[in-house]
Amino acid sequence: MASHLMKLEHITKTYRSDGRTFCALNDACLCINEHESISLVGESGAGKSTFATIIAGLKRPTKGAIYWNDQDISKLARQEKRMMRQKIQMVSQDPTQTFDQLRTVGYSIREALLSYKLCTRAQARERCENLLERVGLSKHYASHRPSELSGGQLQRASIARALACEPELLVLDEVTSALDMTVQEKILQLLETLRQEHKVSMLFVHHDLAVAQRMSDRIIVMKDAGIVTECAASELSSCEHPYVRKLIASIYTL
Ligand code: ADP
Ligand code: MG
Repeated sequence: MASHLMKLEHITKTYRSDGRTFCALNDACLCINEHESISLVGESGAGKSTFATIIAGLKRPTKGAIYWNDQDISKLARQEKRMMRQKIQMVSQDPTQTFDQLRTVGYSIREALLSYKLCTRAQARERCENLLERVGLSKHYASHRPSELSGGQLQRASIARALACEPELLVLDEVTSALDMTVQEKILQLLETLRQEHKVSMLFVHHDLAVAQRMSDRIIVMKDAGIVTECAASELSSCEHPYVRKLIASIYTL
């Protein structure tokens, strides 16, 4: 049986604005296994990105417990927390956020390698070029600024930057949503290859059920700040849950 890489128990996230409390995620539980690929799906505002950013460690839950390799992360020492931050990398819908606009793409990738001491300064240039080539970009893009790359190229570069950290879990929030169909397909093919080559766990957020089914082993369906059901990706079309039936039906009425 696959072992748990990450376990999230009863995760709640509330936001306060104008003196009122709003619950964006309510009592969500999830186990992510090693080498597993999971998709969070559901309508806009369901809490998918909130959950994904908590999983990526970029937001703290208001309530709940998180375990990484069976260790409660609230009890980790500083060095272990840093190691965990390295092992979980997030790629978002807008790759411009990943890069310092004033620096070259290569600088940002080398900085990731060096900050986690994954290579020496002398090795960083070659490692960076190899990473760019692994995501289908010429190594010459290392000397380009983010504004000189197209949306698809920049998304590839942000995947390269995430891979530089040698992650065990990649969190990918709507990474193809802002791209046109042809580029979208190429990025999905790249992610499928990476999944096979690296044996990295992947947590996707998708609004497209067909893509979710293709990219993942398991699908978690969210609605109104909670998980309503989950199923194996291969069983999505036969899932009897009324909300899943509604989501599937909505694809054909668009
Ligand atoms: P999804 O990704 O499923 O579309 P989100 O997780 O982005 O949903 O948002 C869930 C709900 O939480 C939404 O109603 C959104 O407006 C709200 N929300 C998200 N981030 C914040 C924030 N920083 N402050 C207040 N409300 C937020
Ligand atoms: Mg979202």
